[in-house]
Amino acid sequence: MTSGRARLKEVGELDTVVRGGIVVDPSQQIEGQYDILIREGKIVELGRNIATTGRRVIECHGFTVIPGLVDVHTHLREPGGEEKETIYTASRAAAAGGYTSITAMPNTQPVCDDAQKVLQLWRRIEEDSLVRVWPFGAVTKQSAGTELAEIAQMVRAGIYAVTDDGRGVQQARLAQEALQLCAELKIPYCEHCEDESIAGSGQLHAGEAAKRLQLPGIPVSSETLMLVRDALLARECNAHLHIMHVSCAEAVSWLRILKAAGVPVTAEVTPHHLLLTETAVLKYGTLAKMKPPLRTEADRQALISALADGTIDLIATDHAPHTLQEKGAAFSKAPFGIVGLETAFPLLYTHLVRKGALTLAELVERMSCRPAALLSVPHGSLKPGFAADLTILDLEQQWVIDRERFSSRGRNTPFHGWSVYGQSILTMVEGEIVMDRGKIKIY
Ligand SMILES: [Zn+2]
Repeated sequence: MTSGRARLKEVGELDTVVRGGIVVDPSQQIEGQYDILIREGKIVELGRNIATTGRRVIECHGFTVIPGLVDVHTHLREPGGEEKETIYTASRAAAAGGYTSITAMPNTQPVCDDAQKVLQLWRRIEEDSLVRVWPFGAVTKQSAGTELAEIAQMVRAGIYAVTDDGRGVQQARLAQEALQLCAELKIPYCEHCEDESIAGSGQLHAGEAAKRLQLPGIPVSSETLMLVRDALLARECNAHLHIMHVSCAEAVSWLRILKAAGVPVTAEVTPHHLLLTETAVLKYGTLAKMKPPLRTEADRQALISALADGTIDLIATDHAPHTLQEKGAAFSKAPFGIVGLETAFPLLYTHLVRKGALTLAELVERMSCRPAALLSVPHGSLKPGFAADLTILDLEQQWVIDRERFSSRGRNTPFHGWSVYGQSILTMVEGEIVMDRGKIKIY
C-alpha cells in the first residue's frame, strides 16, 4: 500500500481555501469565523472573504476548524505486534480521530533501542503512514532496565524523546544517567511511573473493586514514589521530565508542589483516567484494565481540576491496541490498555466541554498545542507559515461510538456504544486530505 507521506509530498499545486468554519486556535487566541488559505501544504493566510476563484474550496459553514490533534503517547505495535495494529492502521485511526501527528512508543518487538531500528522505523513511517509519526526511543536496552540504550545515536537518527513505557525505569541510577543525557541532548525523558516492588502482580487499583474481585491491587504509592524520585533527579541535572498517564490525586498534589518549586516537569492524562473509575472493571471487565489503573472518583475529579488549572499540561491517548482474544482472557492474564485515537476527542468534548469543565479552546490547547510544545515541534497551530495540519469537526451531530467501524485494528475499548458529540469529519496533513467522511462540500 503506497499511502504514506511520500505520496502526500507530491500534491499541493492548487491553492485551497478552507472556508467559513469557526476556527478555534488557542495558539493565536482565535475563536471565530475565518477562511484559511493553504498553499503548498502551508497556511498562508487567515482572514475573511478570501478569494476562491481558481482555488479548491472546502466549505465549512456550520463546522469547527482546529489545529490537528497531536498525540504524544501512541502504541503502533509495528514491528512485531502486527496482529494488534500496524503503522498504516494506526495512522488511519489517527486521521479518523482528528489526529494529524502521533508518536511511536518504543515497546515493540524488537524494542526500538538503537539508531538502526530508528532508521528502519522511519522508513516504514514514510512508506505507510497517513499522518506524521514521531518515534520515541527506549531508555534502556530492550527496555529491560539494566543498561542504557544508545540514546545519543537514536537522537541523531531522529527520535523525539525516550521512554521505557510499559514499564518504569526501576533503578534510580539508570534513570539519573538517562535524565543527564536527555538534558544534554535537549529531549524530554518520559516516565511510566510504576515502582514494581510496590505494584507487584497488581491487576487494578488497590480499592473496592480489587477487594470484591479478590485480585491483587496497585496502590497509588507505586506511581508517586517514582514520580517524586524522578523529579528530584531531574532537578539535579535540569532535565525535562515528562510524567506519562497521571492517574491519582496524590500525584497531582506532588506535581503542584514540584512545579511551584520550579522543577522542569510536565504531565499528561489519558481520556480514560478522566472519564472512568476503578469500578468500571465490574462493568467492562478487562476493557477497563489499564496501567496505571483507573482510580477512585476523588482521583478522577482531581485529574479534571489539574487539567483545567494547568498542573497537568496535556492529554495523551496511551492508544494501546490488543486483540479481543487477548483481552478475552481471565482478568489476571489479560494485557493492560485500551485503544484511544478514535474516541479521545469526542469523549472529552462531550464529557468535559459540554459539561463545563473545560472550554473548547482549552481542550484543543491540551490536545494539540501543548503536546506539540512538549516535543518542540512547529505544529499545533494554524498561524501563517505553519504546516496545514488541521481537523474539521461536527460539534452538533450526536453519534454512537461503534468499535466495529474503527480504522484501528484494535477493538479493545470500554466506550463502545457511548453516545457522543464532536466527530472529526475531515483531517488534513500538510494540505492533503487524509480523512473525509463526505459531510463537507469540496469544489
Ligand atoms: Zn505506560
